[in-house]
Amino acid sequence: MEFTKIHANSVHTVEYLKGILPEFQGPANDFDVDELERYLPDNALAGQLRTSDPAMVVLNIGKYQSISLNNISPDRALILARLVNDQVRTSPDPLLGTELPASLHAQKIQSHLLYHEGNEYLWMVMAAASGTVTTVQKLRASDIARDTVLMRLFSLSVVVLWIGFWASFGVAIFVSKHVSKAKAVLHHSATYDYLIGVPNQNFLNDILSSLETFVSSDEPNYSLIVVSVNNIYMFEQTYGYGVKWDLFRKFSARLEQHKSANTFIGRYDSNMFYILVVNHSDQWVQSLATAITKQFHDPIVNGPVSFLPSLSLGISHLSVATVSKNEIITQAVHAVKFAKNNRQLITTYTDDLHTLSFLKIRRSAELMKALKDGQFILLYQPKICLASGVVTGVEALVRWDHPIEGRLSPHEFLDLIETSCIAHLFTQCILNTVIKQIEAWTEAGIKIPIAVNISPYDLQNYEITNFLKSKIAAGLLSTDLLELELTESATTINACHTAEMFNEFESMGIKRSIDDFGTGMSSLSYLKEIPFNTVKIDKTFVENLTDDPISEAIIESVLIMAKKIGWTVVAEGIETKEIAERLKVMGCHIAQGYYFAEPMTADNISSFIDKTRQVANTTPSVIESTENTLDLFTGSYD
Ligand code: C2E
Ligand code: MG
Ligand code: MG
Repeated sequence: MEFTKIHANSVHTVEYLKGILPEFQGPANDFDVDELERYLPDNALAGQLRTSDPAMVVLNIGKYQSISLNNISPDRALILARLVNDQVRTSPDPLLGTELPASLHAQKIQSHLLYHEGNEYLWMVMAAASGTVTTVQKLRASDIARDTVLMRLFSLSVVVLWIGFWASFGVAIFVSKHVSKAKAVLHHSATYDYLIGVPNQNFLNDILSSLETFVSSDEPNYSLIVVSVNNIYMFEQTYGYGVKWDLFRKFSARLEQHKSANTFIGRYDSNMFYILVVNHSDQWVQSLATAITKQFHDPIVNGPVSFLPSLSLGISHLSVATVSKNEIITQAVHAVKFAKNNRQLITTYTDDLHTLSFLKIRRSAELMKALKDGQFILLYQPKICLASGVVTGVEALVRWDHPIEGRLSPHEFLDLIETSCIAHLFTQCILNTVIKQIEAWTEAGIKIPIAVNISPYDLQNYEITNFLKSKIAAGLLSTDLLELELTESATTINACHTAEMFNEFESMGIKRSIDDFGTGMSSLSYLKEIPFNTVKIDKTFVENLTDDPISEAIIESVLIMAKKIGWTVVAEGIETKEIAERLKVMGCHIAQGYYFAEPMTADNISSFIDKTRQVANTTPSVIESTENTLDLFTGSYD
């Protein structure tokens, strides 16, 4: 086909030349390539080529030589012409293409293939009487083949793509169905408590996040109630986890009786549940909290097991405009912990709680420095013998002279010390000061015992007993002038160990008091095991003595019991003469309270003691009014 094409082009050109050049009849001559350059480019014949493919015609008529180009650069044309020339010269016989019809052989036509720079060319020399016409044409067969291959490849890839598209579409639908199913399962397990089947903390976070976006800022608030089941751990230790989860399921079922479109109920933490309330007033939320506490007046029954939950509730009311979701949770948890620590049923979060925590954090960090810098000082409150009116001892009461906040009372920092790692150091520091004070007063002729309050944390190990033993061994402590006070509530914490420690104190000759008696709800059997000398009746009974018959009855019973056991009785918190006189009549031995003296510095104590001695000497009637004779020094009965 390519031969036919080039032949037709050549014949056409020759015919054209014959028409315009009558002398174009001569025999064929080789064209001189070098000469050719002179005529380049001559595109007069270009129009004679009936091809759009790159091609050229070389005309060689006598001395006239010309080259006509179609889409071939002059440089390439010269190279091609040379290559054609070489092939013509080196092949004496006409190089006939196999496809050339036999009829053309007689016409002295030479033709062959030529390769140059990856392209295929077909050339044809046609002789005429006066010269030759050489036609060189780029073969399109390989291009066509390549194009065909490309086209086929393209079609194939379109088909493959099409099939691939539908296949992946199908797979995608299949996978997405499964993925959304799996996602739903995952979402459920992420937002629901798998043990009791109620929404969990993540659910709460999700709801709060969505609320932040859709609740209008000037309109309603939302509130969070956190309910802590305080006594569940004790239950769990006794009955195991299985029973605990059963109870929690029943517990949350009771809570869910308050479920509505505007409340979201779930489990927050190990022993805490939450109720998120949207679009209700603070009062409504408050009454909901009260209703919840009433709901648990009856125990939860699970087979043979009954459980009466001990609850603390923390509430946080927040306007969307002012807080983020994290804050509402933090504040409600803060409130519930405060309620729990302070034995309150319901605590609503206020900024004061936050300020208090802030202060506590700061004070905790300052404790050690305060200890080193001597910022903890002791005041001494006299204990008065009701019969004689003289001072029978003093109680050392700590104060923190804070460099910024001023003088702080024990309730503002004591719990921080007791829950820190410096509890023992603190008590040792107090004891050191007291031991020095005993020594100083003894030297000054004042021999009165000083009572020091110790905390249950001081009894956890032997540091305090070892410390006291070392002081005794060094001859620095007259043990009969030291008294240790432990609150009644503290005696119930590890009672056996407390008893052991108190036995040690007894063997050292140190006096021992049970403080705030009547408030600790301790079993009397514990008291039997712990060797005390003195019982201090709490001020809550004393302050109501004259107008509350129950308080009076309790004090009377304590006095009778103490007399039988041999305890000295101290009444705390006496603020009026009336109460002091009533206690004296009832037979109470010693009194402590603002009526007699407030806690004072060590310097003021000596003058106070002198004063009371003088008064006692001039008013013997005080002694006469009691039934028994008192030892003025110790305050105890003979
Ligand atoms: P406490 O041992 O029962 O001490 C008696 C508290 O009652 C003292 O409070 C005292 O100031 C106060 N008080 C005395 N008379 C009256 C009165 O007539 N009316 C009223 N309303 N209160 C009166 P303070 O000094 O604030 O101490 C509170 C508690 O802190 C003490 O109660 C004691 O448990 C503890 N505490 C004080 N100092 C220390 C200490 O050095 N170490 C330890 N571990 N605890 C201490
Ligand atoms: Mg005390
Ligand atoms: Mg007390």
